[in-house]
Amino acid sequence: MSQFPIVNGELVVGGMTLTRLAARAGRTPFYAYDRQLLTRRVTELRTALPREIKLHYAMKANPMPALVCHMAGLTDGIDVASAGELQVALNAGATPDNISFAGPGKTQAEIRQAVAAGILVNLESFREVALLADASQALGLPARVAVRVNPAFELKSSGMKMGGGPKQFGVDAEQVPELLQAIGSAGLAFEGFHLFAGSQNLKPGAIAEAQQRSFALALELAQLAPNPVRSINLGGGFGIPYFPGDRPLDLGPIGDNLSAIIAEAGQRLPNAEIVIELGRYLVGDAGVYVCRVIDRKVSRGQTYLVADGGLHHHLAASGNFGQVIRKNYPAAIGNRMSATNVETVSVVGPLCTPLDVLVDQMTLPVAHEGDLVVIFQSGAYGASVSPEFFLGHPAALEILV
Ligand SMILES: *Cc1c(COP(=O)(O)O)cnc(C)c1O
Repeated sequence: MSQFPIVNGELVVGGMTLTRLAARAGRTPFYAYDRQLLTRRVTELRTALPREIKLHYAMKANPMPALVCHMAGLTDGIDVASAGELQVALNAGATPDNISFAGPGKTQAEIRQAVAAGILVNLESFREVALLADASQALGLPARVAVRVNPAFELKSSGMKMGGGPKQFGVDAEQVPELLQAIGSAGLAFEGFHLFAGSQNLKPGAIAEAQQRSFALALELAQLAPNPVRSINLGGGFGIPYFPGDRPLDLGPIGDNLSAIIAEAGQRLPNAEIVIELGRYLVGDAGVYVCRVIDRKVSRGQTYLVADGGLHHHLAASGNFGQVIRKNYPAAIGNRMSATNVETVSVVGPLCTPLDVLVDQMTLPVAHEGDLVVIFQSGAYGASVSPEFFLGHPAALEILV
């Protein structure tokens, strides 16, 4: 993967050859996230999008505290999806004004924490109106709210659809007028709308269309709002390439479309800022997962590298996090990047389950015990989505370099 240089036949992550980085980490397996790549990604994105766009980091994609701290310094806000994430965002130094909290099933305790912190809550049900009003009264603080709208349309060609049709997320667009009335009657500090249509999309046309339709819907609903709209969060869904044939997302059409939205918003909702929230796109390319070859086995003609890491650290690379047909993440033998003798191998983990496959029959340099297997595109939905307690092996380290 071209974002990581190769020096003396070794992959370089965070300015350090992999063998040295592994020694610095102290043990394998580990995730390593490259600060410079994180910074570069945000800079490139800001260059491609109109400067008025507010860029939020959806920390669900990677909640490692040091990384969230880095991202808080680069972006205009952090989007959290639980009180646990809220704590990390606050510890990271994110400004409460620019933190928003979405997610179904917020507990009374979470809502109180959100109000006490002074962050924006994206309402996902009528129940949350009453809880926010109570918390606001009990604490003597305003309850800042936006409405998360479940639109009637969905984001086409998305890896995961999170809006359109029946969904547990947000409030159906047709019920929003009534919800806005309830918010007005409860005296909550209404600020705007939040729409999130889907995830992992590599089609700029589909993303632009979803953003355009989300914006149009927000404009329509704004007429019923109890106070002027101050923010419209159009979601994100920007994807990254994982598999052969995937191309990096072309930001051109998305930037053009957002420019048109900014211009129209300037006319029709002059007090509103336009926000996009991205997780995977900001951090996914910048991370690798590294594990070590423990054993090399041949079974009836097929070669297996048995590694010290696997599905328990990297569920997504094993194909068990939302993939319908299992495909390999890009992978390499990180300390043999220039080797010319290759073979077809599978890399498996130490778990007693046939699901524990990191790489299925890929052509890689011939590797031996002690070599370092690298799984690329691992900066998002890695450690935090993996069942680390399954089979009792040590957890993966996470380092930011
Ligand atoms: C998951 C999620 C995101 C981040 O999605 P990515 O595909 O990682 O960019 C953003 N907003 C909301 C509301 C989410 O649930």
